[in-house]
Amino acid sequence: MVIQENEPMSVHTSFKVGGPARYFVKASSMESLKNALSFAREKHLPHFILGNGTNLLVSDKGYDGVVISLAGDFSEIEDLGNGKFKVGAATPLGRFARHTLKQGYAGIHKLAGIPGTLGGAVYMNAGAYGQEIGQACTGVTVLDAGGNIRELSAAECGFGYRRSVFSNGNNGAGDDNGKIILAATFQLQSASSQGLTTADLEAELAECMAKRKATQPLNMPNAGSTFKRLEVGAAETPTQVAPGYYIEQAGLKGYRIGSAEVSTLHANFIVNAGGATAQDIKDLSEYVQNKVSEKFRIELKREIILLGEF
Ligand SMILES: Cc1cc2nc3c(=O)[nH]c(=O)nc-3n(C[C@H](O)[C@H](O)[C@H](O)COP(=O)(O)OP(=O)(O)OC[C@H]3O[C@@H](n4cnc5c(N)ncnc54)[C@H](O)[C@@H]3O)c2cc1C
Repeated sequence: MVIQENEPMSVHTSFKVGGPARYFVKASSMESLKNALSFAREKHLPHFILGNGTNLLVSDKGYDGVVISLAGDFSEIEDLGNGKFKVGAATPLGRFARHTLKQGYAGIHKLAGIPGTLGGAVYMNAGAYGQEIGQACTGVTVLDAGGNIRELSAAECGFGYRRSVFSNGNNGAGDDNGKIILAATFQLQSASSQGLTTADLEAELAECMAKRKATQPLNMPNAGSTFKRLEVGAAETPTQVAPGYYIEQAGLKGYRIGSAEVSTLHANFIVNAGGATAQDIKDLSEYVQNKVSEKFRIELKREIILLGEF
């Protein structure tokens, strides 16, 4: 286990901001993960499991704890046959999604453009273009706070719109419930069972990727949607409304605090326009929340997770 001290988090997050993690450990095996957790306990420090840092805003002051990044043994995809897969938490979601597509399975292929890991996707219940990771998930293997490896059924994972039992539906500063996602299992349906071919799936994915390119500021550091979609109507059958509409109507496209900017391409994205601080980004997100609330009496809920003290 290699322990790095004062590792800048700006190199591990898609916003390209964030001060140092007091300790940073790459855990490539179960043994090194357990050692990293023991190390944090011995130092009386909290730990934080990092995926690909694509939904994360780390304070400029950094994180006074141990950041653990899974790798190696946690990056494997096992084909179990008939559309069943077991996938390690550190596997890039895009790699897994494309792997299933190549084998002619539908269900998560439209998620290939999401830049996170499988673990981050399960935590967030990531989704796009009508697909969500939780819909295809049959179970998750976790290391619980007591150090036991447990299998949770999909029902026990409590998947909902951008939430799961792992996040408690509450995107705060590393406010998980101590469960570390090690791997997840999936059951996908063959394209042919839906009257489709692999080429059809490829075409669907290409269309999604083209939409991303046309509508998202992919050439500037960002962390995807800043706010969750709004759920309006009956609790059992809510309709989702895009926050970008209200942000744009509030005249906030292009609004800046420091070098953090409400994207001119997609109002629900905040971009680092060059040299932004984490504080600029947080302040801008709160400014947007306040303006939208004043104008439309709508409370935007942050999708991006904060880590460290602001
Ligand atoms: C350009 C761009 C486009 C995006 N498009 C989408 C989109 O279409 N749909 C969408 O849903 N999201 C999107 N996102 C947001 C982001 O990619 C997803 O939320 C992704 O699932 C986060 O994964 P990650 O590995 O980067 O997680 P991180 O940002 O590293 O972490 C997110 C949370 O997950 C927790 N976590 C990560 N791994 C584990 C683990 N193994 N065990 C326990 N907890 C863990 C972390 O502790 C943290 O709380 C986009 C982001 C960008 C930058």
